[in-house]
Amino acid sequence: MATRAAVHQLGAAVLRRLLSTPAAFDRVIACPCGGHARFHQIRPKQLLTALGTVTIQRPYYLCPECHEGSCPRDAELGVESTEYSPGVRRMMTTVGSESSFQHGREELELLAGLSVTTKAVERQAEAIGEDIVHRERARSTGALQLELPDVLGPPVPVMYIEMDGTQIPMVRAELEGRAGRTEGQPARTREVKLGCVFTQVASDDKGRPVRDPGSTTYTGAIETADEFGRRIYTEAWERGWSRARKKVILADGAEWIWNIAGQHFPGAVQVVDIYHARQHLWDLARALCSGNEKAPQQWMKRHQPKLDGGEIEKLVRYLRSLRPSSAELLNRIRLEADYFDRNAERMRYPDFRRQHLFVGSGVIEAACKTVIGSRLKQSGMFWTARGANAIIALRCSRLSGKFEDYWESRSRAA
Ligand SMILES: [Zn+2]
Repeated sequence: MATRAAVHQLGAAVLRRLLSTPAAFDRVIACPCGGHARFHQIRPKQLLTALGTVTIQRPYYLCPECHEGSCPRDAELGVESTEYSPGVRRMMTTVGSESSFQHGREELELLAGLSVTTKAVERQAEAIGEDIVHRERARSTGALQLELPDVLGPPVPVMYIEMDGTQIPMVRAELEGRAGRTEGQPARTREVKLGCVFTQVASDDKGRPVRDPGSTTYTGAIETADEFGRRIYTEAWERGWSRARKKVILADGAEWIWNIAGQHFPGAVQVVDIYHARQHLWDLARALCSGNEKAPQQWMKRHQPKLDGGEIEKLVRYLRSLRPSSAELLNRIRLEADYFDRNAERMRYPDFRRQHLFVGSGVIEAACKTVIGSRLKQSGMFWTARGANAIIALRCSRLSGKFEDYWESRSRAA
């Protein structure tokens, strides 16, 4: 550690010389107002870099016409209106996207020997996250015009889109006027809509589908279904949706998801996650056989094969033929019969299996935990929509392997 500190000090000295003003520099520069700014004096600026604090010297210009002052060197170095070098900002963003801002601050200190405040980690991570949010918005506005250029590349055999919703805890001020999920209870959470796109290259020797390793990208936000529809459409398009020979949408039964599927992805094969469908059947089995422990299992043994066999009409007919004594139970059965009826075409599991397609939405369910839950649902965490969306954008970018590209394009712009 002592050696590292010494090397850092040495490095910082080298860096200070590298970054400071060259011996020769312009005495007069163009001012954005159209006038000419004149060199006024050399001014110091303190920067926190990966090698510690460095004070650089750079020329400061004043414009006699508009009286604005500027240091063009700051823009060249990417340190305009910040006291952190791009490298340190990137580190702060990375740790802030991984864990709590407090923990991120500790990691920076421990691993990089950098002392920053928790608030600074939060500000940087959110600023970069919001920048990603703005870029995404600009892209999906372009996508909305539906005149997207085809994404060039080799054809994709099978491409999947999975979507799901997951709740995160919000600060109270963000929930005013919102009804809770349980009747009569105040709202405590809001829904993050999350989607992922991945490809399938092959099936294994038992004919089961295999996901393309590293092909999964994620996108999500707290937003309306309309906004999310445009988001996932843009993502799929950029992944080469138009080149996919077979297109599949996989999800649970949530209505907003199938609306998006119908609106933005017509012609795709729609599949209801088989485990969700079975869960519906299990819940019904327990309601029908309440008081008898073994009966639900026997009921399932008789009726699950209809579901697994894709004989949904048969299942619906059976459910509708039931005449329980309680009106409540009758209503429940009707709702479930409607659910299966409405989703019948999305439950032709033997058909999907013959085509070697996935029938479970495990990828998006895992993503709800790894992308959202592990960072945004820690105990004692409460979010604003804006803060959460910034961190979600950051995490999606990183977990989709897009963060390097983002950083590259940022430094090119600077
Ligand atoms: Zn000026």
